[in-house]
Amino acid sequence: MGAGLKAEQGRKAIKIPSWVFFGIVCGRRLSCVDCANEPVIMQPLIDLQSDEFFMGEALRMARRAWEQEEVPVGAVVVLEGRVIARAYNQVEQLKDATAHAEILAITQAEAAVGDWRLTNCQLYVTKEPCPMCAGALVHARVDRVIFGCASPKDGAAGSLMNLLQHPGLNHRCEITSGVRQHDCSAMLQSFFRERR
Ligand SMILES: [Zn+2]
Repeated sequence: MGAGLKAEQGRKAIKIPSWVFFGIVCGRRLSCVDCANEPVIMQPLIDLQSDEFFMGEALRMARRAWEQEEVPVGAVVVLEGRVIARAYNQVEQLKDATAHAEILAITQAEAAVGDWRLTNCQLYVTKEPCPMCAGALVHARVDRVIFGCASPKDGAAGSLMNLLQHPGLNHRCEITSGVRQHDCSAMLQSFFRERR
């Protein structure tokens, strides 16, 4: 038996069945070599570092606001792939017009990092930030702002104005819009419908 064949057998002995790999492939059509090349449709798995995943965390916060009869808006701050702050709209509870989800999340995140600068942080929020929150996000030097649904009446990330990227200000945030847009707008619509 030649050395080459031995190596070949060695490889075969530790051959990993192809289904093991399925877990790391999402939404693709695969041919499984172990199942007579039957095409297999995989369900997309949750990517724990994706914008969709973190928006899901913001949506959970929004749901908590709803449970407390607040307008359902939620926000989370992420640093290096970890959620460092979670907050939801608490204007009614705190009787404070500034208690928007973003402002509360920024304050929490600042406490977590021990600095007023949130450099390299991303803020996920279910609704486009208002001018007050956009101003705070610029002041805190947040790197990127990701929002779900747009707010045509008061959105300050491109709808009414774009304060997050105002050329005259000394910091600009990268913007990603429309992440889980349907889920975010459906929650607000359902809330207001229920209250009518
Ligand atoms: Zn706001």
